[in-house]
Amino acid sequence: MSIAPPRPALGYPVPVADPPPLGLVHLVGAGPGDPGLLTLHAARALAEADIVLHDRLVSDDILALARPGAELVEVGKHVGGDHHATQARIHELLIAHARAGKRVVRLKGGDSFVFGRGGEELEVLRAHGIPYEVVPGITAAVACAAYAGIPLTHRGHAQSLRLLTAHAQDGDADHDWVALAQPHQTLAFYMGVSGLARLRDNLVAHGRAASTPFALVENGSRPEQRVIAGTLGELPELAQRHAVQAPALLVVGEVASFATRLHWFGGAPLTNADAGCAMIRQLARAA
Ligand code: SAH
Repeated sequence: MSIAPPRPALGYPVPVADPPPLGLVHLVGAGPGDPGLLTLHAARALAEADIVLHDRLVSDDILALARPGAELVEVGKHVGGDHHATQARIHELLIAHARAGKRVVRLKGGDSFVFGRGGEELEVLRAHGIPYEVVPGITAAVACAAYAGIPLTHRGHAQSLRLLTAHAQDGDADHDWVALAQPHQTLAFYMGVSGLARLRDNLVAHGRAASTPFALVENGSRPEQRVIAGTLGELPELAQRHAVQAPALLVVGEVASFATRLHWFGGAPLTNADAGCAMIRQLARAA
């Protein structure tokens, strides 16, 4: 029988309750849709997650990589929804689940730091002392260009690339149109489907040639990908005739014409020549 050593009565450190364990948030870019474009870090974070807070556009194939038993919660914004309220709710969920000691994956389309509000979410986590890691994702411009056969820069055609949003918080984005109208640069517009006419008008009014090629990549990297190709002058009409829907990424610049020669994924780019057939199909669907 062993005798327990006497416990000192005084000067003995009094045990205090442990603070609740802090979880960890992984801010993960899921890429544009094809699960093969996830990084190994992203796949590991998903495989170890207790809860995944994901955007609406993240595909089921990617969510299937989450740990079996992980809770999947869609927190995406819907068009016309109250973005501010949704974002505040996302912040609350991130904090609550991390404070409960969970491994949280915040999963966003493309890359979290490219039109993804990832910066805002990290600021909130930092302010609450919650540890986090960031896993970059392949952003739509890079993925859509690759899957449409468009080199975003190409010697003699484009020496720079700009990532732009067609939308600001209160309507159209306020860009330096004179700078954007310069040739030999590639413009990649996110969130542009609804404002294509104004976008074309602004570029052409500031001097970009109406003959500048464009490619509009709808559902890039997904099985249903479509590419519409033409010239800036005919952009809105062509998009309308082919009934282009979000998500779509617009590439404007000399390099966009490569899509007709270098495409390899899905169907060949649709052009003006196909627009008549698209119109007939649309009318037939509506009838
Ligand atoms: N963080 C994301 C962008 C979010 S903004 C990223 O880095 O890609 C949403 C816009 O991204 C859409 O309106 C569309 O312009 C573009 N986008 C996202 N996924 C896309 C896809 N699979 N195909 C075409 N465009 C896409």
